[in-house]
Amino acid sequence: MPLLVMKFGGTSVATLDRIRRAAKRVGVEVANGYDVIVIVSAMSGKTNELVGWVKETSPLFDAREYDAVVSSGEQVTAGLMALTLQEMDVPARSWQGWQVPVQTTSAHSSARIEDILTDNINGKFNEGMRVAVVAGFQGVSPEGRVTTLGRGGSDTTAVAFAAAFGAERCDIYTDVDGVYTTDPRISSKARKLDKIAFEEMLELASLGAKVLQTRSVELAMRYKVKLRVLSSFDEQTETSGTLVCDEEEIMESNVVSGVAYSRDEAKMTLISVADRPGIAAAIFGPLAEAGVNVDMIVQNISEEGRTDMTFSCPNDDVPRAQKAMAAAKEAGHINYHDLVADTDVAKVSVVGIGMRSHAGVAAKMFSALNSEGINIKVITTSEIKISVLIDRKYMELAVQALHDAFELEKAS
Ligand code: ADP
Ligand code: ASP
Ligand code: MG
Repeated sequence: MPLLVMKFGGTSVATLDRIRRAAKRVGVEVANGYDVIVIVSAMSGKTNELVGWVKETSPLFDAREYDAVVSSGEQVTAGLMALTLQEMDVPARSWQGWQVPVQTTSAHSSARIEDILTDNINGKFNEGMRVAVVAGFQGVSPEGRVTTLGRGGSDTTAVAFAAAFGAERCDIYTDVDGVYTTDPRISSKARKLDKIAFEEMLELASLGAKVLQTRSVELAMRYKVKLRVLSSFDEQTETSGTLVCDEEEIMESNVVSGVAYSRDEAKMTLISVADRPGIAAAIFGPLAEAGVNVDMIVQNISEEGRTDMTFSCPNDDVPRAQKAMAAAKEAGHINYHDLVADTDVAKVSVVGIGMRSHAGVAAKMFSALNSEGINIKVITTSEIKISVLIDRKYMELAVQALHDAFELEKAS
């Protein structure tokens, strides 16, 4: 039988009533003749609560136990979804990651899927099961411990299952009806896109648009999974939602297709480091070893052999960055006057494959921010994106100003 993967995010399974609504939608696809793999998230708010409990119990927690606790939210919704389907006379059962098994690396709290063995689930499909309800976000390490895939990881579970089982499509049901030109919660002018290219979605996701986890887009691109984002609350038609697809399938071509933001950034400046060969390696080596996710890097002009080095990283990584730099200084590998952490910054980015062939996007972006009196602290660019670091209090204003400047409310 043809197979579909349907993923329901936290808000779509937030109550028993919503689980019933989601189950009905699954029932429709079963009636249409599909076998279905349903991937569920934890009820909305649950994972945050579990993470909070872990941090309160043990601030420098053992990541293996973090995963044991935090993966439990998905176990509950998988069981409840299977029960709901059974009540509707749909042959269904739940699967936890280790039961499938979903084999991952041992990088607890941010593990990567290495393989999904299909025999167990396929065996049950052959015996008449019509729906496999799989707990998203979790797997099992080579050591046999439960792992999780990083926040938002159920999207990745869904795409990985679609690839492993050769599903006809992977539908991501969420609380908005598709991918928008920017977060519809920030700008009322945000416009839903019918299609978006993998590359653009990858940039938007990695720059903060949490509608899809970055890794899920990478996998969809690599394994050519037909990926759709749609609302679990609206009635659906064939053309509902947003299709994430190859660039060639898209007719619409705005130079900029979206604006993304990330609120949880920090700007770190090492004041007065010796400017000598090897200094960047001496700074960023220890940061990488400490697991600090460095994003932007700027080295200032050097005066009398000394310079300032600025980098950005997620707010959560600041204590680790401070510790790593202090240790490198202590060991005599680097020598700086001070490390200044500015934790009140946000990153705002514009993304579009049209930038490859159009000049002037950066100038337009900077002038739009200037018109609102927003000071730019750090800039980075790549082929299809430009990001700036600004004061967090201006973040929403910046997103709206850029959305207006690039006329994203209008389709081209
Ligand atoms: P789920 O629980 O279903 O996984 P998430 O909260 O992880 O849902 O992701 C959906 C949210 O992503 C939306 O509610 C929206 O606020 C946010 N979002 C950010 N950027 C975008 C965008 N460009 N298009 C659509 N949604 C976006
Ligand atoms: N429940 C997990 C989280 O909140 C995974 C997910 O929903 O995708 O991050
Ligand atoms: Mg999500």
